[in-house]
Order: sequence, then C-alpha cells, then structure tokens
Amino acid sequence: MGSRELKKNVERARRRAYYESLSPEEKKEYRARLIRARKLKKLKSMVFGSAILFFLALVGFIGVLAGRGKGEEVLATEADSLNGDGVSESVAAAAAANSAPDWVVEDLIRVNKYSRPGTPLKQVNGIVVHYTANPGTTAEQNRSYFDGLADTGETSASSHFVIGIDGTVIQCVPLSEIAYASNDRNADTISIECCHPDESGKFSEATYDSLVRLVKWLEETYNLEPEDVIRHYDVTGKECPLYYVENPEAWEQFLQDIVL
Ligand SMILES: [Zn+2]
Repeated sequence: MGSRELKKNVERARRRAYYESLSPEEKKEYRARLIRARKLKKLKSMVFGSAILFFLALVGFIGVLAGRGKGEEVLATEADSLNGDGVSESVAAAAAANSAPDWVVEDLIRVNKYSRPGTPLKQVNGIVVHYTANPGTTAEQNRSYFDGLADTGETSASSHFVIGIDGTVIQCVPLSEIAYASNDRNADTISIECCHPDESGKFSEATYDSLVRLVKWLEETYNLEPEDVIRHYDVTGKECPLYYVENPEAWEQFLQDIVL
C-alpha cells in the first residue's frame, strides 16, 4: 500500500470515527452537508468541462477558418467528435477511462436482443441495486443465465454487474451499453444484481462489502450522490432487493455506508 493510499485510509477511518460519535440528528445533518459539498463540486466540474468544450470548439472553428476549402466537412467531423451520437461528454469520458478495478471480473455476455441489445448508455444518473431472487446461486450461474437468454429467448433480462455470495464481482455488460434490469430506468442507470444465500434475500457480508466497494467506485466515476443509488423497488415498487425493501433501516444503513 502506497503512503498516499495509507494516508487516505487513515483520513477515512478518522472521518468514520467522528461520524459514528454523532447523534442520529447530527448524522443526518452531516450527511446533508456532505451531499451539498459534493453537489457544489459537481457544479464546478461541469462549469470547467463546459469551458474546455468551448475552447475545443473554438480551436476547431479556427481550424476551419484556416481550412483548405473543406470547411463544412471538417466542421461536421469536429462536431461529431465533440458530441458523438448525443452521448454526454462526461459519460463518454467515464466509460473510456473506465478500466474497471482489478477486483472486477469482466466476463461479458454475447450481444443479443434479449440481454445485451448493444444500445448505447447515453447518460448515467443513478445506480440500481437488485437481488437475484434465486437463493444459493452463484454470480457465474446468474451471468450464464443472462448469456443463455440469447439462445432461449424466454425473457429479457440482464445486469451490468452480478455480485456473488463470496463477494466476486462479475461484469456482464459494458458500461457504455444499457442492460435490461430496471424498467424505465434502463436508459440512464447502471444495474447491480446481488446473489444471496437464502429466501430472506439478505446479502452475505462478502456480497455487502463488494457492493459498497463497487457503488463507491461508480459514484466516483460518474460523480453521483448517495441519493442517486436506489433499489429496483424505488423504480417500479417491485420487492427487490427483498430484504432491503422489508427492512428500510438496513437500506438506510447501506446509504450511510456508501457516504464515507
Ligand atoms: Zn430487481
């Protein structure tokens, strides 16, 4: 572990200890303050991003003015590269820079109309958490089920990530494409399916820890807030992920665990 990372961990532990020492009321206030600070940071980076885009557009325009009689063509190319297919710059950048951490096992399913349509994911406004509703199955089995839909066509379903009971994280669909998991929110969210040992739907400790780690990484990559992390239940009212619908305080605890 590098000294920078060590320092970061010490800082995080200090923050957590402080947070734990607060009363419930103070905790709520602390979270709200943190969220406000993150929003400000997001706004600042958006302004900065726009400034860079403007500069690039200006450079492109000057290039055209100085052009060699192919002005229109050059302009079109510039515009395309700036805003390819309507995909927002930040999402494209995040997807491009998205070399997943080494604890994510990339095992993509085949492109097919039932589980990986290949449709571009043009914006990421949230993360949706699910449970497999299939006690005792492994991440690999659930990934194979999604892949097998290409042959069986029995239904449309998939997920960007599946987390196993042992904490394994498998990526099934690239973050530049949509997955079929969250109904109306497929077009602007990243989905995570969690395996679970029994009918209660409660995640194992290893699954929970991997989920926290994965969500924190996605929050950072896409500049999301904890309130952008939702349950399938919050989209459609479906009892998914079951345990965290039946036990709202467990979900609230999770939302706190991804803040710090
Ligand atoms: Zn679900």
